[in-house]
Amino acid sequence: MNHIASIRAALAPAGLDAVLLTCRANRFYAVGYDSHGTDGACLITRDDAWYWTDGRYIEAAQNEITDARVGLTDRASPYGQLVAGVAARCGLRRVGFDDGAMTVADYGRWRQDLPACELVPASALLTGLRASKDVGELDRMVRAQRIAERALTEVLNDIRPGVTESFLAARLVFLMRSFGAGNVSFDPIVLSGAATSVPHGVPTEKPVAAGDFVTMDFGALYGGYCSDMTRTVAVGHVTDEMQHVYATVLAAQRAGIAAAKAGVTGRDLDRAARDVIEAAGYGAAFTHSFGHSLGVEIHESPNASPGNDQPLPAGCVVSAEPGIYLAGRFGVRIEDVLHLTADGCDNLTRAPKELLIL
Ligand code: ZN
Ligand code: ZN
Repeated sequence: MNHIASIRAALAPAGLDAVLLTCRANRFYAVGYDSHGTDGACLITRDDAWYWTDGRYIEAAQNEITDARVGLTDRASPYGQLVAGVAARCGLRRVGFDDGAMTVADYGRWRQDLPACELVPASALLTGLRASKDVGELDRMVRAQRIAERALTEVLNDIRPGVTESFLAARLVFLMRSFGAGNVSFDPIVLSGAATSVPHGVPTEKPVAAGDFVTMDFGALYGGYCSDMTRTVAVGHVTDEMQHVYATVLAAQRAGIAAAKAGVTGRDLDRAARDVIEAAGYGAAFTHSFGHSLGVEIHESPNASPGNDQPLPAGCVVSAEPGIYLAGRFGVRIEDVLHLTADGCDNLTRAPKELLIL
């Protein structure tokens, strides 16, 4: 799976002769092969494509990349020289680059290496292309989601008083990888008791206790694509207030899911869920956005947030994750991921979300 053709089709309308992709996510999106860190450069022109990498990756790149010429960079042939050679041969003038990810130092080097080219910011172009997932991408994201759900089913058996947050986080990593994940899509967040009021806290050696909420936010990576889900479960017993807060978050999430469809602005989608939480008197305790897009990276654009007044495109996969966080006491977050269509959305998450008391 690669996206060379769709990137190429976007060049002329954007007034570009080529696009130079150097950040890991955009290189992977373009050619479907993942060489890590900064060890790759991809150049797509209106009628050709190149991918260069170093000796550690060259054999795998040659085996896996189709539809692009694969070349080796080494001390005698640095990336700048290789790209400059193609730019001169093909007469490239306006070349898009990863302005959202390139360091200032790298930008300075590319300016020196490509003096005849105008370097044009192109991150927004790639972000726009990456926002709408195709069938192949969606298939990988669903597989990643199913792996995470299997891991959740297993880890529920481990949650009991005395077990630590760190142990549960490690179990999730082990289970997802043993069920076929290439990696985790981010380090799992497993929090319990008062720590659940910190939306993105870090798991500690604190043991789970009876009466705690346990919040687990985690995802698998499959074929280079992310899943993301959060479930909050209770241990032993809950107070009436915990039950009420949980029911409010779930109602807010369902209101957001009901409002989710292509063409709705990120702001309005966030608003649909936020209205429910505000009406229950917890508006100040919902301290983040309703959702973010995901795909090759765990956080992509566009967001379902108060700051996004643009319509969400068909095919985007966006999280639905309202939360209520009562500082020093407890918090609840419930997260699914939605694939937006013209008529509404497909919820890619199948795991139950009624309050579970273990
Ligand atoms: Zn998450
Ligand atoms: Zn998320």
